[in-house]
Amino acid sequence: MSSKDTEDFGGKVAFVTGAGSGIGRATALAFAAAGANVIAADRNPNDNHDTVELITSGGGHAIATTCDVTNSDDIQAALQQGIERFGRLDIAFNNAGVELRPMPAADISEDDWDRVLNINLRGVFLCMKYEIPLLLQHGGGGTIVNTSSGAGVKGFPGGAAYGASKFGVIGLTKSAALDYAADNIRINAICPGIIDTNMMDRFTGGTNEGRAEVIAQEPIGRMGHPDEIAAAVLWLSSPAAAFTIGHALVIDGGQTI
Ligand code: NAD
Repeated sequence: MSSKDTEDFGGKVAFVTGAGSGIGRATALAFAAAGANVIAADRNPNDNHDTVELITSGGGHAIATTCDVTNSDDIQAALQQGIERFGRLDIAFNNAGVELRPMPAADISEDDWDRVLNINLRGVFLCMKYEIPLLLQHGGGGTIVNTSSGAGVKGFPGGAAYGASKFGVIGLTKSAALDYAADNIRINAICPGIIDTNMMDRFTGGTNEGRAEVIAQEPIGRMGHPDEIAAAVLWLSSPAAAFTIGHALVIDGGQTI
């Protein structure tokens, strides 16, 4: 394997959801730095625009599409804008997601359950539903990486709704991977541990005590950096991972071992 296998996405077109912040932004920047044309999608237009600005001011190619992943019209419109601009789709990173304050399962409101499952699981399904025909269109196949979580492979107290959504992403990924393996579409998932993003700030309250509490769960003794997740997404999306199908790659500093 040469480093070129993992790093050259020249001419490829990558759709990234949740591109306005955290893991999505880091991955959009990493794809662009590796030569890809990026279709950045987020429901927050300002943050998404900032991501695109970071890419284009560095000489990369990207467009911003305002897209709520629970809305299939938004998803189709975002993909269409990308096709109009860049001509094709090769790569998708279905990453947009939300957290829920930890609470015992019976205390979760029906509205919160529906909201978390709708964004984190149905949103990934909807994105795949409209990406796959585009990946099949030009005959070359492509890659999809879906964002699950450490909470998608292990139970956490207070995490029933979030955990259900993230376990669901892995089930969706594995079954769909089998559906399209023969079409040269490789579908995998990533399972990040505790990553230093706005989501983690909301989760910990952003205080030193809150941060220390979650870091205590990490055998490595620190939070992960979004770039460390982006690196895994790029590998899974690259020819270096050509034989990797339906895998849920845990990148978590040892948290779930
Ligand atoms: P973040 O809050 O920093 O970024 C999430 C982005 O997704 C935001 O820009 C937000 O606007 C966007 N988004 C939310 N709902 C959306 C929707 N319905 N449609 C379109 N965009 C939407 O969070 P992050 O930490 O970068 O998380 C990214 C993904 O990684 C999420 O799926 C999250 O569950 C997962 N994850 C995060 C961690 C962590 O420790 N940060 C750990 C495991 C998994």
